[in-house]
Amino acid sequence: MNDKMKKIKISPIRKGTVIDHIRGGQSLKVLKILGLTDVEIKDVVSIAMNVDSSVGKKDIVKVENKEISSDELDKISLISPETTINIIRDYEVIKKERVKLPERGKGIVRCRNRNCITNQKEPVEPEFKVISSKPVNIKCVYCEREMREEEITENLL
Ligand SMILES: [Zn+2]
Repeated sequence: MNDKMKKIKISPIRKGTVIDHIRGGQSLKVLKILGLTDVEIKDVVSIAMNVDSSVGKKDIVKVENKEISSDELDKISLISPETTINIIRDYEVIKKERVKLPERGKGIVRCRNRNCITNQKEPVEPEFKVISSKPVNIKCVYCEREMREEEITENLL
């Protein structure tokens, strides 16, 4: 076993979530999605950035006492589709799954077209369809404006 094959060790957590295979450099955005950029956080949060992996650089985020909502999972899948979620109970991984790009999403990404009905004072929630996954590309269902990865990241709600 060479050095690269060794498992990454971040302090274990009893209960929480390990978010692995985040695209290198995207972990801070994941923290933001999870609302963990507050100064009030009391739970343990560990971050490893730009760790070597078989598919290039990756980030890892470990969060104690956190369950990720389906909206949060959808947002993470949009900015880092290869991410895996590991649910920890009593220091063991009890569930491991890859995030899945939704076919559509409502209320999670703002349309970047300022004239779109979803950006007016109408009670219309932004909604998109995923039109490609590599790279991620989505399209507003109202005005058909397309958004690519960086635009999605900038417009996450
Ligand atoms: Zn739109």
